[in-house]
Order: sequence, then C-alpha cells, then structure tokens
Amino acid sequence: MRGIALVAILLLAGFTPALGNSTAQQPDIVQEHWYHSYLTLTLDVQAWAEDYPEIVLLTIAGQTELGKNLWVVQISDWTQNTKPDGTQKEIVYIDGGHHGNEHLGTELAFLTAEYYIEGWGAGDQDVIDVLATTELHILIMLNADGNDIDTRWNLNQVDLNRNYDHYWNTCPTTQPGSGAFSESETLANSNYMNTVVPDADLYVTMHTGVWIMLYPWGKWPDQPSDWELFHGIRDEVHTNISDIPIQNANQGLYPNCGTSRDYGYGVMGFPTFTFETDDEQWLLGTVEPLSDRLGEELDVMKYLIDNVWYWRARLTIEEITIEDDVVNFDVVNDGRASTRNATLQYLNEETDEILWQSDNFTVNITSRISVSTNGFDYDNGVWRLSYQKRIINSAQWVNETVDELLVSIIKVEDDSFLLGYGLFNPLSMIMALSVVAILKPELSEVETSE
Ligand SMILES: [Zn+2]
Repeated sequence: MRGIALVAILLLAGFTPALGNSTAQQPDIVQEHWYHSYLTLTLDVQAWAEDYPEIVLLTIAGQTELGKNLWVVQISDWTQNTKPDGTQKEIVYIDGGHHGNEHLGTELAFLTAEYYIEGWGAGDQDVIDVLATTELHILIMLNADGNDIDTRWNLNQVDLNRNYDHYWNTCPTTQPGSGAFSESETLANSNYMNTVVPDADLYVTMHTGVWIMLYPWGKWPDQPSDWELFHGIRDEVHTNISDIPIQNANQGLYPNCGTSRDYGYGVMGFPTFTFETDDEQWLLGTVEPLSDRLGEELDVMKYLIDNVWYWRARLTIEEITIEDDVVNFDVVNDGRASTRNATLQYLNEETDEILWQSDNFTVNITSRISVSTNGFDYDNGVWRLSYQKRIINSAQWVNETVDELLVSIIKVEDDSFLLGYGLFNPLSMIMALSVVAILKPELSEVETSE
C-alpha cells in the first residue's frame, strides 16, 4: 500500500526521476521517497564524484553477473594521504544490497555516504575532522541485478549472503551457490576486502527485514572471542543512541553460514556488524522521508565511524627498565578490544632478526599490566612492540617501533656492590642510577639510551 500511495503522490506532484540526464543527481524529493535503482544510483554516485573531487573517488569493485558495475564510493580528504599527524588513516568498509529486495539496507548505505559528502560541502567541522583521519569505502548496491527486479537472489538464484568462504554451506540454508565465491558479486566483494581495505577496523553490511544489529557468529551460538568489544559497543549504543537490539547473529536471528559478516570477522579479522535497518522489505518507496525514517540508524553509523580508532587494541609502552638481564615494562591499552600473544621484542636493526623477546602477554580493554622477562643481553638493536589488533586469530598483526627514550638500562657486573646499595628495589631505581654513576663508575656501566 505504501508503494502505491507513493507513486500517486509523486505523479500528483509532477515529479519523475530524471533518468535521461547523465550528469544530474536525483532531486532530493525523489531520493527521499523512491528507493534507488541501479540507474539512479549510478547517476547519484557519478554526480558526487564530479561535484566533490577532493573527497569522492568513484571506483568499481567488479561487475554483477549481468555486467552492472559494483560502484564503490571512497570518501576521505584525498588532498592528504595520511592523518595530520602523519600516521595512517583509519579505514571503514560498508556494503549494502546483498539482497535485492532489501531496499532500506541499501538506502542506509547511501545515506551514510551522503551524510559525510554533504556535510563536507556544508563545512560541518565534525565531518571535516572525520574525513581528515578516516577513509570510508562504501559499496552501496552489491546485488544490482536482484535490486532491479526486487528479488532477494542474484541472477543465478543464489543467496549472496550465504556464498562467502567461511564455513560455506554448513548450516541448514537455502541457495548458497555451487561453491564459495561462485558468484561474481561475492567474489568481487571479497577481492575488494582483501586488496583495498585489509586494514579496516570496521565492516558493516546493511540489510533489512528485522530491526536488529548482529555481530558474529552466525555459524555458532557462542560469543565471539572479541565479545568485550562488541558488548562495549552495544552498551554505548543503548545508553546514548538507540534501543535497537544488538546480538550475536546465531541467537539474534538464526544459524547462518557463509555470510559476509562471518567472513569479514573470521577470515579478514574485521569487527563486523550486520545492520538490519527496519522490519520492512519489498516496498519500492516510503511515504516518510528516508532521512527521518533512518535517522536513528544513521546516528548509530556515525557513532561507529567517528570512533573507529577505538575498535582495536592500541597498546603503548610507558617505560622499559633493564635491571641486569631482566626487562621490566608497563603496557597500557587505549583501544576497546583486547589482545593476546603480544610481545616486546629487541631486533637486529639491519636484519630484523629477533634477538630477544618478552614472554607473551595479554592486555584486556580496561587493564594496564606490568611484564617482567629475563634473558636480555644485547646491544645495538631496536625495540618493537608486536601484537594483534583483536583476539580473533585472523586479526591483523601490528609491529610498532618503541621509542628508545623510554628505555633505561642498568648493567651491573658486581652483585655484592649492588645488593649493598639496594639496587634491586625498583623504587630506588633513579636514586640507584645516580649512586652507581657517582660512586662506582668503573665497576658498573650505567647508561640511559637516547
Ligand atoms: Zn538481507
């Protein structure tokens, strides 16, 4: 009924989509009420690229089975390759329209892109700050063939969101395809994840039919290993933005395998959400303006994007002291994900050979820990912190150089002297340093590396 009423409203009002003009964007009044087709989406994304060349790069991830382009809108301040502080920008990946009849999911992907593009155009300082530090990659309509005939499946009657290479076809499911990535749409999407955005710290895939956000797993009822991260996001969304239910997919919906969400987390190591935007499918338009109807959902997306820096472990070393052959250091985690199997390493600068490494350590989201490992007896190397961004096995490893200014070294050869001056008490470290330096320089080598 809603769709029919809408057609009548648009006809009465004299609006028709401007399909003949290859450069004109859809008028807002149409865009707000009439869901995108492949053609109108193509017009809109091309107009963005033309109007905002400094922040919009339009690229193609591949083609549908029928040869339609899989447009990806890449949004960032492209006049700068890095953040203002010279570090790598954060990366967000979003797709919509796996299921061709789930138009409101596709529209949320579109609205998210539009919010940042038009916000930039309007000089919105929050948007400018986000685009200075973050790249958004948004593939708005993955199943363009299915979208145009308002069907869930692609040309080959495959459910694209059961066609990914993560426990493919191991759940009671329908139409998973002849094999993982048998379809050009899913193969293109996984290629894009693996080659363009492997460093992403957020992946959201947009659907509709229920009002819920789903995190991994669909395959298993168990909570994912990074449950602290997902539960933390859930609690903040509920406290500050929306009452939308947020659950693991298997329990929140039903067991499902071969989904892009489980692939994104289990294989790529991204924090992933399936955003089910609304309880409606099938209709081609909406009487209520889209930006009102999906306003709350867009607010959740803004929160996830604006805070992407936090969706991983962010370890920093506060201080390293070496007392004889024992290395002591404190680690702080500023991110919202935990990490395991982290190590502090000492490397040969030329060969990268690991000369020494600490015992493995774990840092949870709220913890600061102290680590102590013996066996250090090296010179002329460099310090490196090595850890995974999240607990999931597939999470990316980061290797970060540790500033040598943090390192204090005390090498002592005469133990009896040391004991006599209480040097084994870490609290007296600085005092002891001075004592050794002044009183007994010929017995002890005291240095603070620069
Ligand atoms: Zn769906």
